[in-house]
Amino acid sequence: MSDSVGLVVCREAAIYKLSDTHPLTPERVILTLELIEAYGLDRLPNVHRIGCRPATHDELRLVHTEEFIDATTRAGRGEEGPWERFGYASRGIGDNPIFPDMHEAASLVVGASLAAVEDVHSGRAQHSFNPSGGLHHAMPSRAGGFCVYNDVAVAIAWLLQQGVERVAYVDVDVHHGDGVQQVFYSDPRVLTASIHEYGPYFFPGTGDRDETGAAAGRGTSVNAPRPGATGDDEWLDAFRSEILPAVRSFEPQILVTQLGADAHWTDPLASLRLTTAAWSEAYRELHELAHELCEGRWMATGGGGYSLTAVPRGWTIAFGEMCGVLGELSRELPAAYVAEAERLLDERIPRTLFDG
Ligand SMILES: [Zn+2]
Ligand SMILES: [Zn+2]
Repeated sequence: MSDSVGLVVCREAAIYKLSDTHPLTPERVILTLELIEAYGLDRLPNVHRIGCRPATHDELRLVHTEEFIDATTRAGRGEEGPWERFGYASRGIGDNPIFPDMHEAASLVVGASLAAVEDVHSGRAQHSFNPSGGLHHAMPSRAGGFCVYNDVAVAIAWLLQQGVERVAYVDVDVHHGDGVQQVFYSDPRVLTASIHEYGPYFFPGTGDRDETGAAAGRGTSVNAPRPGATGDDEWLDAFRSEILPAVRSFEPQILVTQLGADAHWTDPLASLRLTTAAWSEAYRELHELAHELCEGRWMATGGGGYSLTAVPRGWTIAFGEMCGVLGELSRELPAAYVAEAERLLDERIPRTLFDG
């Protein structure tokens, strides 16, 4: 209970909205903050709120090319250009449709993750959480998989710039953390470890076991691919036997985790079958790892997750774990949250924090 925990509240990042029908909706983050607030987690004595700011050009350049930042900026202003080359689809379709002010929106998401990681690096907090972050598919010169700029990769690159020598990145999103892996594939200072669904036609198609890193970074990429329909027990077995030992032997100074919530059984875009029980186990193990290896230093982001009834519960469970109060939270969701969520979603939602 004595750990100091930062929560990034960046409602401005709701302008990161790819289209009216796109599954990566800002409501995923808005409802998460609503639920965290309904439980009073943001008002705990050991919790402080962190605001956000746009990442600067120099910060984006830690990962992204000048050409890509320029293309993103101009496409988002409505200029015509060869934007397909940078991963963007025109006419509002595809994974990455061009949307208004997308440079500004994505810069805010990166700035939010930088604020979170600065909070931990400075020692103000042991743990911090940016639910709006986790855009792990963006590549240095190309958008992909709903992601414009790679906030987690920029946050890690910023830590390296500050002199941190070993960063471990753990990605539990149902999709392979391909962008982060690629950015640090040859860098021995960053371990990237991803557990994800893997199979024919499943996005992004990378993340097999033989992707282990290159050159001086050989051995610093770890992948635990799982077939569709994997449930809690098998997933946790792989997490414990393949991901956690790799992080332990790497001996990181800080842990960065992408907590994409799309491995849940109700997710419409994937077919793993995790319940909230697997999440609470995994989050507890990550928390213990941060204290065991990193003197507590742990920055977490959100990520994917397209079931609007599951994502806010998953990320509230994560934040409750970070705050050290998960066991004390009422299993019944706060009535005010249920009413607000049902109004926003126009559907009946589960009444409990954990799956039945
Ligand atoms: Zn702690
Ligand atoms: Zn995902």
